Amino acid sequence: TGAPRDRLRIAIQKSGRLSEPARALLASCGLSWRESRDRLFCYGETLPIDLLLVRDDDIPGLIADGVCDLGIVGRNVLLEQAGERAANGRAEAFREWRPLGFGGCRLMLAVPDGWDWRGPAQLAGRRIATSYPALLSNWLQEQGIAAQVVTLSGSVEIAPRLGQADLICDLVSSGATLAANQLRPVQTLLESEAVLAGPARDFEAERAELAEMLLRRLDGALRVRHSKLLLFQAPRRLLPQLLSLLPDAESPTVMRLDQGEDDLALQALCHGAVTWQRLEELKRAGARGLMVLPVEGMLA
Ligand code: ATP
Ligand code: MG
Repeated sequence: TGAPRDRLRIAIQKSGRLSEPARALLASCGLSWRESRDRLFCYGETLPIDLLLVRDDDIPGLIADGVCDLGIVGRNVLLEQAGERAANGRAEAFREWRPLGFGGCRLMLAVPDGWDWRGPAQLAGRRIATSYPALLSNWLQEQGIAAQVVTLSGSVEIAPRLGQADLICDLVSSGATLAANQLRPVQTLLESEAVLAGPARDFEAERAELAEMLLRRLDGALRVRHSKLLLFQAPRRLLPQLLSLLPDAESPTVMRLDQGEDDLALQALCHGAVTWQRLEELKRAGARGLMVLPVEGMLA
């Protein structure tokens, strides 16, 4: 569509749950932007990668139309719109490229508190309110259940009290909203999180290299996201015991010290949480000079 672009364009949510973590993740890949006054378009400074700030619901369509190359959006939105396209006989136009590890939630069925839930068969003939009609319809079909899908664009959780539906199918994270509306989650339809979405096929040639570089950086950033570099010294004979306390360490590096025949220095990339408690355990096991460093990036 339109003239060939040599800059990459990424759509992210303008304001909402995913906006800040999406920006932070892209910034950790070395991107930075000059913000325009309307704040809908951010011009990439360090790399020819621009941002488009939009409503999350628009992101799959922007990719499908080729207006944007990539987007950061909930898997729930991406799969709902993919389901809708498929139901209308349209070709697959976008897909999940990477799970991003934030914005976690579940698409769940929730029933009024008084219900005695005995499984999906109980749903036959019921009215279910949801903003995810395609995902819900597909699930009902897989289960072989005929129920009525009531599509609402928002405030799904009050539908049972208003008499619009018998139960709901909605996103749940803490469950507090459901509880406040006397609803109880009973069945998960989808485990969701923010994902990097992109075209179903490969990138346009002029932007393929740039996209590949971004993906490599993103993989590096995701890989070390919760990782820490742990440094310490210890006598050689205590090494096996110390290493047994580091099951989440990626092949630790062991170095000889300049002085002290028997002392070694260790360097280990830990993928699990490095808590004070773990440091104290290592110290009790004979480690000295423990130091924990944040890891900003990694290129495999
Ligand atoms: P927009 O104005 O962009 O349309 P929105 O109101 O549709 O925003 P948000 O409420 O910001 O969207 O949610 C964005 C995404 O965050 C959801 O699609 C979902 O993937 C994820 N999410 C995580 N936890 C929750 C939750 N408890 N409720 C709703 N969405 C959640
Ligand atoms: Mg939305």
